[in-house]
Amino acid sequence: MMAEAQVASQQEQAEKKYIMEEKSVGEGTYGAVYRARCTVTGRTVAIKKMKPEHEDEGVPSTAIREIAVLKGADHVNIVKLLDVFCVRRKVHLVFEFIDRNLKEHMRAHSLLLTPSAVRCFQAQMLRGILFLHTHRILHRDLKPQNVLIDTALPAESLRNLKLADFGMARAFSVPIPKYTHEVVTIWYRAPEILFGTQEYALPVDMWSCGCILAGMASGQPIFQGDSEIGTIFAIFKKLGTPNEEHWADLGPLPQLQGALPDFKTTFPQWPKKEWAQIRNIQAQLLAEGVVLLDDLLRYDPAKRPSAKSASKYEYLAHTTAAAAAAAAAARAGA
Ligand code: ADP
Ligand code: MG
Repeated sequence: MMAEAQVASQQEQAEKKYIMEEKSVGEGTYGAVYRARCTVTGRTVAIKKMKPEHEDEGVPSTAIREIAVLKGADHVNIVKLLDVFCVRRKVHLVFEFIDRNLKEHMRAHSLLLTPSAVRCFQAQMLRGILFLHTHRILHRDLKPQNVLIDTALPAESLRNLKLADFGMARAFSVPIPKYTHEVVTIWYRAPEILFGTQEYALPVDMWSCGCILAGMASGQPIFQGDSEIGTIFAIFKKLGTPNEEHWADLGPLPQLQGALPDFKTTFPQWPKKEWAQIRNIQAQLLAEGVVLLDDLLRYDPAKRPSAKSASKYEYLAHTTAAAAAAAAAARAGA
Protein backbone atom coordinates (compact mmCIF):
# COMPACT_ATOMS: atom_id res chain seq x y z
CA MET A 1 0.00 0.00 0.00
CA MET A 2 2.78 2.38 0.97
CA ALA A 3 4.45 1.87 -2.37
CA GLU A 4 1.21 2.38 -4.25
CA ALA A 5 0.47 5.61 -2.44
CA GLN A 6 3.97 6.81 -3.20
CA VAL A 7 3.61 6.02 -6.89
CA ALA A 8 0.25 7.80 -6.97
CA SER A 9 1.69 10.95 -5.45
CA GLN A 10 4.67 10.85 -7.80
CA GLN A 11 2.21 10.66 -10.69
CA GLU A 12 0.26 13.61 -9.39
CA GLN A 13 3.45 15.61 -9.06
CA ALA A 14 4.49 14.74 -12.59
CA GLU A 15 1.08 15.80 -13.86
CA LYS A 16 1.25 19.11 -12.01
CA LYS A 17 4.73 19.81 -13.34
CA TYR A 18 3.32 20.40 -16.83
CA ILE A 19 0.45 22.61 -17.95
CA MET A 20 -0.90 20.97 -21.04
CA GLU A 21 -2.86 22.75 -23.77
CA GLU A 22 -6.21 21.21 -24.52
CA LYS A 23 -5.98 20.88 -28.26
CA SER A 24 -3.36 18.49 -29.58
CA VAL A 25 -0.72 19.73 -32.04
CA GLY A 26 -0.42 16.39 -33.75
CA GLU A 27 -2.11 13.06 -33.89
CA GLY A 28 -0.38 10.02 -35.17
CA THR A 29 -0.63 6.29 -35.05
CA TYR A 30 0.43 5.78 -31.47
CA GLY A 31 -0.74 8.83 -29.64
CA ALA A 32 -1.57 12.49 -29.56
CA VAL A 33 0.99 15.23 -28.99
CA TYR A 34 0.20 18.31 -26.88
CA ARG A 35 2.08 21.52 -26.36
CA ALA A 36 2.73 22.14 -22.67
CA ARG A 37 4.69 24.34 -20.31
CA CYS A 38 6.97 22.99 -17.67
CA THR A 39 6.18 24.92 -14.46
CA VAL A 40 9.65 24.22 -13.08
CA THR A 41 11.80 25.37 -15.98
CA GLY A 42 9.28 27.54 -17.87
CA ARG A 43 10.22 25.66 -20.98
CA THR A 44 7.72 24.83 -23.74
CA VAL A 45 7.62 21.10 -24.29
CA ALA A 46 5.73 18.56 -26.37
CA ILE A 47 3.98 15.77 -24.50
CA LYS A 48 3.13 12.60 -26.35
CA LYS A 49 0.36 10.69 -24.67
CA MET A 50 0.64 7.11 -25.80
CA LYS A 51 -2.53 5.26 -26.72
CA PRO A 52 -2.78 1.91 -24.98
CA GLU A 53 -2.50 -0.93 -27.50
CA HIS A 54 -5.45 -2.67 -25.94
CA GLU A 55 -7.71 -1.05 -23.39
CA ASP A 56 -6.95 -3.33 -20.47
CA GLU A 57 -3.25 -3.77 -21.09
CA GLY A 58 -0.35 -1.97 -19.50
CA VAL A 59 2.36 0.11 -21.09
CA PRO A 60 2.32 -0.35 -24.88
CA SER A 61 5.40 -1.96 -26.38
CA THR A 62 5.76 0.93 -28.83
CA ALA A 63 6.16 3.28 -25.86
CA ILE A 64 8.77 1.08 -24.23
CA ARG A 65 10.70 0.86 -27.48
CA GLU A 66 10.48 4.59 -28.02
CA ILE A 67 11.74 5.33 -24.51
CA ALA A 68 14.55 2.80 -24.74
CA VAL A 69 15.75 4.18 -28.06
CA LEU A 70 15.53 7.84 -27.14
CA LYS A 71 17.09 7.54 -23.71
CA GLY A 72 20.39 6.75 -25.33
CA ALA A 73 20.08 9.15 -28.24
CA ASP A 74 21.67 12.52 -27.65
CA HIS A 75 22.24 14.09 -31.03
CA VAL A 76 21.46 17.45 -32.60
CA ASN A 77 19.40 15.74 -35.33
CA ILE A 78 17.32 13.58 -32.99
CA VAL A 79 14.42 15.01 -30.97
CA LYS A 80 15.36 15.16 -27.31
CA LEU A 81 13.40 13.18 -24.73
CA LEU A 82 13.31 15.23 -21.51
CA ASP A 83 11.08 13.26 -19.17
CA VAL A 84 8.76 10.26 -18.93
CA PHE A 85 5.83 9.73 -16.60
CA CYS A 86 2.71 7.67 -16.33
CA VAL A 87 -0.73 9.00 -15.40
CA ARG A 88 -3.83 6.84 -15.24
CA ARG A 89 -1.92 4.07 -16.95
CA LYS A 90 -1.07 6.25 -19.91
CA VAL A 91 2.59 6.77 -20.68
CA HIS A 92 3.54 10.39 -21.30
CA LEU A 93 6.75 11.20 -23.15
CA VAL A 94 8.02 14.76 -22.70
CA PHE A 95 10.10 16.16 -25.58
CA GLU A 96 11.72 19.45 -26.46
CA PHE A 97 9.09 21.33 -28.48
CA ILE A 98 9.85 21.73 -32.20
CA ASP A 99 7.50 24.02 -34.13
CA ARG A 100 6.53 21.88 -37.07
CA ASN A 101 7.01 18.69 -38.95
CA LEU A 102 8.44 18.63 -42.46
CA LYS A 103 5.04 18.12 -44.07
CA GLU A 104 3.69 21.25 -42.37
CA HIS A 105 6.89 23.13 -43.11
CA MET A 106 6.58 22.37 -46.81
CA ARG A 107 2.96 23.46 -46.79
CA ALA A 108 3.96 26.73 -45.11
CA HIS A 109 6.34 27.26 -48.03
CA SER A 110 3.66 26.52 -50.64
CA LEU A 111 5.40 23.17 -51.22
CA LEU A 112 8.40 24.96 -52.71
CA LEU A 113 11.56 24.67 -50.65
CA THR A 114 14.64 26.40 -51.99
CA PRO A 115 17.32 24.10 -53.44
CA SER A 116 19.66 25.05 -50.58
CA ALA A 117 17.04 24.21 -47.95
CA VAL A 118 16.48 20.80 -49.54
CA ARG A 119 20.22 20.18 -49.53
CA CYS A 120 20.62 21.27 -45.94
CA PHE A 121 17.67 19.21 -44.67
CA GLN A 122 18.95 16.18 -46.56
CA ALA A 123 22.38 16.53 -44.97
CA GLN A 124 20.88 16.76 -41.48
CA MET A 125 18.49 13.89 -42.08
CA LEU A 126 21.43 11.71 -43.10
CA ARG A 127 23.35 12.76 -40.01
CA GLY A 128 20.43 11.73 -37.81
CA ILE A 129 20.12 8.40 -39.62
CA LEU A 130 23.87 7.83 -39.38
CA PHE A 131 23.69 8.37 -35.63
CA LEU A 132 20.86 5.82 -35.34
CA HIS A 133 22.49 3.25 -37.57
CA THR A 134 25.82 3.56 -35.78
CA HIS A 135 23.93 2.87 -32.56
CA ARG A 136 22.33 -0.19 -34.14
CA ILE A 137 18.87 1.37 -34.38
CA LEU A 138 16.54 1.06 -37.36
CA HIS A 139 13.97 3.89 -37.50
CA ARG A 140 11.56 2.02 -39.80
CA ASP A 141 9.03 4.85 -40.13
CA LEU A 142 10.79 7.80 -41.74
CA LYS A 143 8.33 10.15 -43.43
CA PRO A 144 7.81 13.94 -43.44
CA GLN A 145 5.37 13.82 -40.50
CA ASN A 146 8.10 12.22 -38.38
CA VAL A 147 10.77 14.75 -39.30
CA LEU A 148 10.65 17.96 -37.25
CA ILE A 149 11.91 21.37 -38.31
CA ASP A 150 12.97 23.99 -35.80
CA THR A 151 12.16 27.36 -37.36
CA ALA A 152 13.69 29.41 -34.54
CA LEU A 153 16.56 30.47 -36.79
CA PRO A 154 15.51 32.87 -39.53
CA ALA A 155 17.72 31.68 -42.39
CA GLU A 156 16.16 28.73 -44.12
CA SER A 157 19.46 26.96 -44.61
CA LEU A 158 20.27 27.23 -40.88
CA ARG A 159 17.20 25.44 -39.63
CA ASN A 160 17.66 22.49 -37.43
CA LEU A 161 16.08 19.20 -38.52
CA LYS A 162 15.34 16.46 -35.99
CA LEU A 163 14.09 12.93 -36.45
CA ALA A 164 11.13 11.97 -34.26
CA ASP A 165 8.65 9.16 -33.60
CA PHE A 166 10.68 6.14 -32.62
CA GLY A 167 7.61 4.01 -31.90
CA MET A 168 8.52 1.64 -34.70
CA ALA A 169 12.26 1.79 -34.14
CA ARG A 170 14.13 -1.17 -32.86
CA ALA A 171 17.63 -2.11 -32.10
CA PHE A 172 19.01 -4.67 -34.50
CA SER A 173 21.45 -7.36 -33.69
CA VAL A 174 23.33 -9.91 -35.72
CA PRO A 175 21.77 -12.00 -37.17
CA ILE A 176 19.06 -9.54 -38.07
CA PRO A 177 15.74 -10.91 -36.87
CA LYS A 178 12.79 -11.51 -39.16
CA TYR A 179 10.42 -8.62 -38.82
CA THR A 180 6.72 -8.29 -39.23
CA HIS A 181 5.33 -6.95 -42.46
CA GLU A 182 3.46 -3.96 -41.09
CA VAL A 183 5.98 -1.22 -40.64
CA VAL A 184 6.87 1.95 -42.53
CA THR A 185 3.92 4.03 -43.74
CA ILE A 186 3.19 2.69 -47.14
CA TRP A 187 4.44 5.51 -49.46
CA TYR A 188 7.89 5.45 -47.89
CA ARG A 189 8.10 1.71 -47.63
CA ALA A 190 11.05 0.03 -49.30
CA PRO A 191 10.34 -2.42 -52.16
CA GLU A 192 11.85 -5.38 -50.30
CA ILE A 193 9.19 -4.92 -47.61
CA LEU A 194 6.45 -4.42 -50.21
CA PHE A 195 7.53 -7.69 -51.86
CA GLY A 196 7.29 -9.52 -48.58
CA THR A 197 10.88 -10.10 -47.55
CA GLN A 198 11.31 -11.49 -44.07
CA GLU A 199 14.76 -10.07 -43.60
CA TYR A 200 15.39 -6.42 -43.99
CA ALA A 201 17.72 -3.97 -42.44
CA LEU A 202 19.28 -0.51 -42.56
CA PRO A 203 18.66 0.06 -46.29
CA VAL A 204 14.91 0.41 -45.60
CA ASP A 205 15.67 3.73 -43.89
CA MET A 206 17.84 4.79 -46.83
CA TRP A 207 14.94 4.15 -49.22
CA SER A 208 12.58 6.25 -47.06
CA CYS A 209 15.21 8.97 -46.96
CA GLY A 210 15.34 8.93 -50.78
CA CYS A 211 11.54 9.24 -50.94
CA ILE A 212 11.67 12.23 -48.59
CA LEU A 213 14.40 13.86 -50.71
CA ALA A 214 12.30 13.46 -53.86
CA GLY A 215 9.28 14.82 -51.99
CA MET A 216 11.17 17.88 -50.76
CA ALA A 217 12.35 18.57 -54.31
CA SER A 218 9.03 18.08 -56.08
CA GLY A 219 6.63 19.29 -53.40
CA GLN A 220 4.64 16.09 -53.14
CA PRO A 221 5.12 12.46 -52.15
CA ILE A 222 6.78 10.64 -55.02
CA PHE A 223 5.19 7.19 -54.71
CA GLN A 224 1.55 7.59 -53.77
CA GLY A 225 -0.57 4.48 -53.79
CA ASP A 226 -3.74 3.66 -51.92
CA SER A 227 -2.62 0.09 -51.29
CA GLU A 228 0.57 -1.96 -51.34
CA ILE A 229 0.10 -2.89 -54.98
CA GLY A 230 -0.84 0.70 -55.82
CA THR A 231 2.39 1.89 -54.23
CA ILE A 232 4.39 -0.81 -56.03
CA PHE A 233 2.99 0.31 -59.38
CA ALA A 234 3.60 3.97 -58.51
CA ILE A 235 7.27 3.03 -57.96
CA PHE A 236 7.45 1.03 -61.20
CA LYS A 237 5.95 3.89 -63.23
CA LYS A 238 8.80 6.20 -62.17
CA LEU A 239 11.77 3.89 -61.69
CA GLY A 240 10.79 1.28 -64.27
CA THR A 241 9.67 -2.28 -63.51
CA PRO A 242 12.67 -4.04 -61.97
CA ASN A 243 14.25 -7.25 -63.20
CA GLU A 244 17.19 -9.40 -62.13
CA GLU A 245 19.62 -6.95 -63.68
CA HIS A 246 18.61 -4.39 -61.06
CA TRP A 247 18.17 -6.84 -58.27
CA ALA A 248 19.67 -10.32 -58.15
CA ASP A 249 16.94 -11.50 -55.77
CA LEU A 250 14.45 -11.25 -58.65
CA GLY A 251 16.46 -13.80 -60.65
CA PRO A 252 15.49 -17.42 -61.23
CA LEU A 253 18.25 -18.97 -59.07
CA PRO A 254 16.60 -21.62 -56.94
CA GLN A 255 18.20 -20.46 -53.70
CA LEU A 256 16.62 -17.06 -54.20
CA GLN A 257 13.13 -18.37 -54.76
CA GLY A 258 10.90 -17.14 -52.05
CA ALA A 259 13.17 -14.28 -51.01
CA LEU A 260 10.58 -11.81 -52.34
CA PRO A 261 7.37 -13.84 -52.35
CA ASP A 262 5.08 -10.99 -53.33
CA PHE A 263 6.95 -10.09 -56.52
CA LYS A 264 5.17 -11.39 -59.60
CA THR A 265 6.84 -11.84 -62.97
CA THR A 266 3.46 -10.97 -64.47
CA PHE A 267 3.62 -7.38 -63.18
CA PRO A 268 3.16 -4.81 -65.99
CA GLN A 269 6.39 -3.52 -67.54
CA TRP A 270 7.09 0.20 -67.32
CA PRO A 271 10.25 1.95 -68.54
CA LYS A 272 12.25 4.23 -66.25
CA LYS A 273 11.16 7.86 -66.39
CA GLU A 274 13.79 10.61 -66.40
CA TRP A 275 13.81 12.84 -63.31
CA ALA A 276 13.54 15.85 -65.63
CA GLN A 277 10.07 14.57 -66.54
CA ILE A 278 8.94 14.30 -62.93
CA ARG A 279 7.80 17.72 -61.73
CA ASN A 280 10.79 19.86 -60.80
CA ILE A 281 13.02 17.18 -59.33
CA GLN A 282 15.92 17.59 -61.76
CA ALA A 283 15.70 21.39 -61.66
CA GLN A 284 15.69 21.41 -57.85
CA LEU A 285 18.36 18.82 -57.19
CA LEU A 286 20.58 19.43 -60.22
CA ALA A 287 22.83 16.69 -61.54
CA GLU A 288 24.62 16.16 -58.21
CA GLY A 289 21.42 15.68 -56.26
CA VAL A 290 19.99 13.30 -58.82
CA VAL A 291 23.04 11.05 -58.43
CA LEU A 292 22.30 10.71 -54.72
CA LEU A 293 18.56 10.27 -55.29
CA ASP A 294 19.11 7.52 -57.87
CA ASP A 295 21.35 5.62 -55.46
CA LEU A 296 19.02 5.95 -52.45
CA LEU A 297 16.21 4.60 -54.61
CA ARG A 298 18.03 1.49 -55.86
CA TYR A 299 15.72 -1.51 -55.95
CA ASP A 300 18.44 -3.77 -54.57
CA PRO A 301 18.93 -2.79 -50.90
CA ALA A 302 22.55 -3.91 -51.08
CA LYS A 303 23.19 -1.26 -53.74
CA ARG A 304 21.84 1.66 -51.69
CA PRO A 305 24.54 3.73 -49.98
CA SER A 306 24.84 3.59 -46.20
CA ALA A 307 24.06 6.79 -44.28
CA LYS A 308 27.80 7.33 -43.98
CA SER A 309 28.59 7.00 -47.66
CA ALA A 310 25.46 8.94 -48.67
CA SER A 311 26.61 11.91 -46.62
CA LYS A 312 29.87 12.00 -48.60
CA TYR A 313 28.18 12.59 -51.95
CA GLU A 314 29.15 15.69 -53.91
CA TYR A 315 25.58 17.03 -53.54
CA LEU A 316 26.14 17.51 -49.83
CA ALA A 317 29.73 18.72 -49.98
CA HIS A 318 28.85 22.36 -49.28
CA THR A 319 26.31 21.88 -46.53
CA THR A 320 28.61 20.91 -43.69
CA ALA A 321 29.53 24.44 -42.64
CA ALA A 322 25.94 25.70 -42.62
CA ALA A 323 24.65 22.72 -40.70
CA ALA A 324 27.46 22.94 -38.18
CA ALA A 325 26.57 26.59 -37.63
CA ALA A 326 22.91 25.67 -37.17
CA ALA A 327 23.83 22.98 -34.69
CA ALA A 328 26.01 25.36 -32.72
CA ALA A 329 23.34 28.07 -32.72
CA ALA A 330 20.67 25.58 -31.67
CA ARG A 331 22.86 24.43 -28.79
CA ALA A 332 23.59 27.99 -27.74
CA GLY A 333 19.88 28.81 -27.77
CA ALA A 334 18.88 25.75 -25.77
P1 ADP B 1 2.85 9.05 -33.72
O1 ADP B 1 3.65 7.87 -33.29
O2 ADP B 1 1.49 9.04 -33.12
O3 ADP B 1 2.88 9.25 -35.20
P2 ADP B 1 4.63 11.31 -33.46
O4 ADP B 1 5.75 11.22 -32.48
O5 ADP B 1 4.98 11.14 -34.89
O6 ADP B 1 3.50 10.30 -33.01
O7 ADP B 1 3.89 12.70 -33.25
C1 ADP B 1 2.72 13.04 -33.98
C2 ADP B 1 2.84 14.47 -34.50
O8 ADP B 1 2.98 15.38 -33.40
C3 ADP B 1 4.07 14.70 -35.38
O9 ADP B 1 3.81 14.41 -36.74
C4 ADP B 1 4.35 16.18 -35.15
O10 ADP B 1 3.55 16.98 -36.00
C5 ADP B 1 3.90 16.41 -33.70
N1 ADP B 1 5.09 16.33 -32.81
C6 ADP B 1 5.74 15.21 -32.45
N2 ADP B 1 6.79 15.46 -31.65
C7 ADP B 1 6.82 16.80 -31.49
C8 ADP B 1 7.69 17.71 -30.78
N3 ADP B 1 8.74 17.27 -30.07
N4 ADP B 1 7.42 19.03 -30.85
C9 ADP B 1 6.35 19.47 -31.56
N5 ADP B 1 5.52 18.69 -32.27
C10 ADP B 1 5.73 17.36 -32.24
MG1 MG C 1 4.37 9.87 -36.38
